[in-house]
Amino acid sequence: MKTVLISGAGIAGPALAYWLTAAGFEPTIVERAAGLRSGGYVIDFWGLGYDLAERMGLIAGINQVGYRARELRIVNGAGRRVAGFGTAVVSELTGGRYVTLPRSALSRLLFERAKDGIETIFGDEIVALEQASDGVRAVLRHAGERRFDLLVGADGLHSQVRRLVFGPQSRFERHLGYAVAAFEACTYRPRDEDVYLMYGEPGRMLGRLTLHEDRTLFLFVFAADRADLPATPPAQKALLRDLYGRGGWECGKILTELERTEELYFDTVSQIRMQDWSRGRVALVGDAAFCVSLLAGQGSALAMIAAYVLAGELCASQGRFRQAFTAYEARLRDYIAAKQRGAARFAGAFAPKTQAGLCFRNMVLNAFAIPGLARLAVGRDIADRIALPDYPWPALDQGAKYAPAVRSAGKSSSRSS
Ligand SMILES: Cc1cc2nc3c(=O)[nH]c(=O)nc-3n(C[C@H](O)[C@H](O)[C@H](O)COP(=O)(O)OP(=O)(O)OC[C@H]3O[C@@H](n4cnc5c(N)ncnc54)[C@H](O)[C@@H]3O)c2cc1C
Repeated sequence: MKTVLISGAGIAGPALAYWLTAAGFEPTIVERAAGLRSGGYVIDFWGLGYDLAERMGLIAGINQVGYRARELRIVNGAGRRVAGFGTAVVSELTGGRYVTLPRSALSRLLFERAKDGIETIFGDEIVALEQASDGVRAVLRHAGERRFDLLVGADGLHSQVRRLVFGPQSRFERHLGYAVAAFEACTYRPRDEDVYLMYGEPGRMLGRLTLHEDRTLFLFVFAADRADLPATPPAQKALLRDLYGRGGWECGKILTELERTEELYFDTVSQIRMQDWSRGRVALVGDAAFCVSLLAGQGSALAMIAAYVLAGELCASQGRFRQAFTAYEARLRDYIAAKQRGAARFAGAFAPKTQAGLCFRNMVLNAFAIPGLARLAVGRDIADRIALPDYPWPALDQGAKYAPAVRSAGKSSSRSS
């Protein structure tokens, strides 16, 4: 019981590869994209996710590329502040262990940490698979047939492994009534350093955040039926123009920037809810198993936590995978379910669908200035109610703190097809 094929090199995939290597397994990652995916918005990072990043030796890198916004500011059509709060309360609730960073930066940091000594195949994907008593036979579109002891789907909200093993996405997807789009632009003005700006109209929100190196990140969250979401970037841009074209604040300017971008992240705001996260020798991790949605603000941390627990249980059970998969689910199921409930509750607050809803949301945000109220309102959703188990990690190189030992150099290969 040694070889594990991981589908997906987003967040969960590299994190799992890192911990599997530390556990003495031989992971191979197959990623459909030609390289690590860039684009997307920023993700918030605290609690157990932060602890894990620390265990992986990533905090210095994260602090280098991360941000600590000091204010969330809601503006009206004229750009005037109508609501908001300082983020000191979040720092207080997390003991200062809180950082915001671009998703792509986190993915890169994780991959850099995990890649030594593992095989990575970019530009390929599993198109068929078959489980047998002695392993999983996976057919890769370009690399052909390969056999592994185990297979893990870490291929995100639209997981192919989940589709092949458990059935169509529609069976597990719970659409939260919104869609999301994000892109970056260079030299955009104005800049408001370390401030999240949000402009809202009923059913649509547009956010702006300044980044390092004179870049700015824009986020659209809007009410939408799942079936109406366009699939191609030109059609996605056209939909955003329709929705925001008559908006106030900086909508017009931001739509002009949108026309220029070649990298638009666009997706449904959905959750994945499944009865089981494994079947036979195949398990799912991260968004593929339990996407909590963008609105939880914690999908990446949860993906890292699940990767750690899955690898740890495989290590602790010495490869008895059924036992490990059962323990993995038992440890995390309630915790993830609570995060999903929190995100579903929060969905309406992000982009309220009525004017009255918008006013109410703004009133609540302003009330966060009252001492103790913010702690009461968000404390429950911020808190992590489980502790990370300790696992043996026999292949951890004790000399280099938390770095997995690299196996023989000849084993390491990184290739693209
Ligand atoms: C480009 C991109 C931008 C994102 N932007 C945001 C954002 O702005 N805000 C937010 O909250 N969340 C965003 N997400 C989702 C967020 O990364 C996840 O919620 C979270 O980090 C969980 O990570 P994951 O590894 O489970 O899934 P993901 O990070 O989605 O990673 C899945 C990986 O699997 C790959 N993949 C997909 N299909 C296949 C296949 N058939 N074979 C092989 N590989 C495959 C994908 O290319 C991707 O690299 C984004 C995801 C992507 C891919």
